[in-house]
Amino acid sequence: MSIAENIAEINKKITAAAEKSGRKREDILLLAVTKTIDIPRIKEVTELGYTELGENKVQEIMSKYDELDGVQWHLIGHLQTNKVKYIADKVKMIHSVDSLKLGTEISKRCGQCGRIMDILVEINIAGEEAKHGVPLDMAEKLACELAKLENIRVRGLMTVAPYDPEPENNRKYFKNMYKLFIDIKSKRYDNINMEYLSMGMTNDYEAQI
Ligand SMILES: *Cc1c(COP(=O)(O)O)cnc(C)c1O
Repeated sequence: MSIAENIAEINKKITAAAEKSGRKREDILLLAVTKTIDIPRIKEVTELGYTELGENKVQEIMSKYDELDGVQWHLIGHLQTNKVKYIADKVKMIHSVDSLKLGTEISKRCGQCGRIMDILVEINIAGEEAKHGVPLDMAEKLACELAKLENIRVRGLMTVAPYDPEPENNRKYFKNMYKLFIDIKSKRYDNINMEYLSMGMTNDYEAQI
């Protein structure tokens, strides 16, 4: 299948999953993850109108940045504090904020380039040792601390669920994420707008929706 055919297929599945759960297609963002993918293939995607792209490495965003126009980059992978300076002016959103130290550096660097960064709080939903993110019960506190930083806007939550060949097994994690998302949203904290719940991967996005 071509990339265009693949995306059409994914769109059908997104629409079906949305309808099944009483949601609207336009409330779901299809973020094309382009790590390890070369520029010509990425252009096939952006030319179809999918211009929100996810990368998990700072270096890879930097090397692709000048090669592509009209793209909104999302950093979805772990971010080291000493690398924030390289992407503060390049990415639309950082999905992987899991400490106040990292948030403070993001706020500082964004202040220097005169912008505000949209961020998500990363949660280690299954308590996996090899994964980044804060435990579920620490996320609200961290979100509130991050919201006090001047050049940050808290826009939601992110998690990378455990890999499971049967994605239905991850529903319990998606439910817990959603519960917390709704709970924080209902409290209407200053500078916390719960709008994004970033969780889906290629093998589980239908269950996630
Ligand atoms: C690679 C990656 C994805 C996408 O995973 P696929 O299974 O390739 O869709 C999602 N989130 C993060 C953090 C990733 O690094």
